[in-house]
Amino acid sequence: MSQKPVRVRFAPSPTGGLHLGGVRTALFNYLFAKKYNGSFVLRIEDTDQTRYVPGAEQYIIDCLTWCGIAPDEGPHQPGKFGPYRQSERKELYRKYALELVDKGFAYYAFDTTEELEKMREEFKTESNPSPQYNHETRLKMSNSLSLPKEEVEKKLASNQPYVIRIKMPDQKEIHLQDMIRGEVVFHSHLVDDKVLLKADGMPTYHLAVVVDDHAMEITHAFRGEEWLPSAPVHILLWEYLGWKDDMPNWAHFPLILKPDGQGKLSKRDGDRLGFPVFAMDWKDPKTGELTKGFKEMGFMPDAFINMLAMLGWNDGSGKEIFTKDELIQQFSVERIHKGGAKFDFEKAKWYNHEWLKASSNEILIPYVKRLLDDNGIKADNNILNQVIPLTKERCHLISDFLIQLKYFFTAPEEIDTDAVKPKWDQQKADFFKACKQEFASLNNWIGQDIENVFKQTASTYQLKPGDVQLPFRIMLVGGKFGPAVFEIAAIIGKDATLERMNKALNLFNK
Ligand code: GLU
Repeated sequence: MSQKPVRVRFAPSPTGGLHLGGVRTALFNYLFAKKYNGSFVLRIEDTDQTRYVPGAEQYIIDCLTWCGIAPDEGPHQPGKFGPYRQSERKELYRKYALELVDKGFAYYAFDTTEELEKMREEFKTESNPSPQYNHETRLKMSNSLSLPKEEVEKKLASNQPYVIRIKMPDQKEIHLQDMIRGEVVFHSHLVDDKVLLKADGMPTYHLAVVVDDHAMEITHAFRGEEWLPSAPVHILLWEYLGWKDDMPNWAHFPLILKPDGQGKLSKRDGDRLGFPVFAMDWKDPKTGELTKGFKEMGFMPDAFINMLAMLGWNDGSGKEIFTKDELIQQFSVERIHKGGAKFDFEKAKWYNHEWLKASSNEILIPYVKRLLDDNGIKADNNILNQVIPLTKERCHLISDFLIQLKYFFTAPEEIDTDAVKPKWDQQKADFFKACKQEFASLNNWIGQDIENVFKQTASTYQLKPGDVQLPFRIMLVGGKFGPAVFEIAAIIGKDATLERMNKALNLFNK
């Protein structure tokens, strides 16, 4: 490990909602930074103005904050390496692009869109259906390598639009040491002359990422696997700019795959299969379209990051439930798998279920209160303290508490009469009538006493308690669910119990 203070970055483009893969990249960066007492930097890569979406930057910060992995530095919290938005660092990139041209590692290219298209048509062959701007074609194009010096100067002086491209060497092996994959070797002749500076003066990702990782003293650059093919360009830029010794350690994280393992998990898969792929709800400001997020679907942040960490990583012991502090302690980049990790929504819910079960009332009450409140139910803490422990076993999502708790506060709107009526008879009707009278005169309204009265009355009517317990439950709850029915009766109180019995008996006796 290098002696420099650890600095890692999450560098999203503000183009929309934050996908699971993006949050996981942020999480792994965060865990690594915290493990080594380093800094976790958020850098907004907004150089592609055509893809910029207003609100996306704040959304990213909100998501990371909700996950409990807020960056130490970023546009919202500037440190000494700012600005943290690439659009505000424009001049810096230009300087280095020109330096690369001066040193002969890059060149001006004046080709118009039509000329580029013509080139692709002209050089197209069966074996090479999409020819690139590279060592084979560059001298046939309009650039400072192919044109006489004076002509280049004339074009520049007359402000003819240009881009700056890297001049990839024809024959060079480029070696990458990846913390997950080990040594990866690239052949330069397979890589095209990537644009570094665009005609609008903005850098491309390739130039900006190297300049900023250097300027921000990033020690470890962790990013998604989709960037692996660009790594040779970045490695050469580190070398060409004279910064090779400062180059960060690299790791490329595996993809998060569709549930069937066939390709990268996309937002469309989520829509199709009915689960979220974004951390939080995202409303597209242009179309107004709302895409669901894990937060609003009822995930707890600790469960969410626990689940995410296990998509591609484990500590080797088989342990699955980790607190954030345990993750920080146990995390190691080397233990991230090379292969993609299949996303399984049922398993994601299982994590949340485990977290709900293990969470104290103190943690759960604010969530549950908000949920009930949003549904017009005012719940007091005293009751919540009693009912949350009775019901959390039955919840996978925070939103499940609505159905599991609602009847403690309001009478059920619907009664599942179909579950009762086929077996309903006069004997049961008589039993419940008597039971109501016994309840009315019961002084000590607690679960055990209610149960005793209920069972004694049942035996008087020669009924098995099991035969009348289900109808009783349906009277109080509306359906076949919930904890012990006598506990429910005790908590809702005698009046509400009798009221609900009356109402349901009218339906059953019809
Ligand atoms: N802006 C790139 C992205 O959105 C960042 C890649 C990197 O971390 O280097 O994926």
